[in-house]
Amino acid sequence: EPALSIRGLTKVYGNGFNALKGIDLDVQQGDFFALLGPNGAGKSTTLGVVCSLVQKTAGQVSIFGIDIDRDFANAKYQLGVVPQEFNFNQFEKVIDIVLAQAGYYGMPRSEALPRAKQLLTELGLWDKRNGGARMLSGGMKRRLMIARALMHRPKLLILDEPTAGVDIELRRSMWEYLRRINQDEGTTIILTTHYLEEAESLCRNIAIINHGEIVRNTSIRELLAEL
Ligand code: ADP
Ligand code: ADP
Repeated sequence: EPALSIRGLTKVYGNGFNALKGIDLDVQQGDFFALLGPNGAGKSTTLGVVCSLVQKTAGQVSIFGIDIDRDFANAKYQLGVVPQEFNFNQFEKVIDIVLAQAGYYGMPRSEALPRAKQLLTELGLWDKRNGGARMLSGGMKRRLMIARALMHRPKLLILDEPTAGVDIELRRSMWEYLRRINQDEGTTIILTTHYLEEAESLCRNIAIINHGEIVRNTSIRELLAEL
C-alpha cells in the first residue's frame, strides 16, 4: 500500500474560500516526494489535513492504509511532521523538547535518551542541548524540529517548506541529511516547496499544485526532460 493516499480531498475554509478542489495523490513507500506550487496554491492546507491539523471538508486520506478518520491515533505513529512555523516552547531546553516528543509517543526514557543523543549529534545540536531553544539560530531551530519529528522513528516524514529562509550552506546540509535518512533508513519523505531547484535536487516524484488542483503528477526525470 502507498505511504500516503489522498482521494477527492476538498477544503473550504470558514470564510468560504475553496483551497482544495478534490485532489487525488499517492505517494509510494520509500519515495522522496515534492509537492510543488506557488504561494497560496494549497500545499500547507494539504499537509495540514494529512497531519489532522486542518479539518477537511470532503475526501479520504490514508497513511500506510490507515484511514485518518477511522484511526488517526494509530496513523500518527507512522508520521513525523516538521511544520513551517516554529511551534515549540522557546523557553524550554533543547533536550526537553525532543524528550517530550518521545513521551507523547510512549517511548521509554531508556530508549529516548540515546535516540535524542543520536539525532541531536547528527543535526549539530548536541552541544546546545542544555540551553533554551530561544538561543538557537533560525537554522538550528529548524534542525531541532527535524530532530523532534524523527524521535519516534516515523516511516513517513512530512516537511512544510523546510528550507524557507535558510541560507544556502545550511540548505545544502539539510538536503544531505534528508537524502541520507531517505536512502539509508528508507523513510518516506514528502516536502512542500516553491523552489523547483529543491525538488529537482532531492526528489524522485513530484506533484504540482495550483489554485487547489493537482496540475501535474510525474517523476522529476520526466518533468526535466520536458523543460
Ligand atoms: P476552518 O474553516 O478550517 O475552521 P477558519 O476559516 O475558521 O478555518 O480559519 C482559521 C484561522 O485562520 C482563523 O484564525 C482565520 O482568521 C485564519 N485565516 C483566515 N483567512 C486566512 C488566510 N487567507 N490565510 C491564513 N489564515 C487565515
Ligand atoms: P500554500 O501552502 O501553497 O502557500 P495554503 O494551503 O497555505 O497555500 O493556502 C491556500 C489558500 O487558502 C490561500 O489562498 C490561503 O490564503 C487560503 N487559506 C489558508 N488558510 C486559510 C484559512 N484559515 N481561512 C481562509 N483561507 C485560508
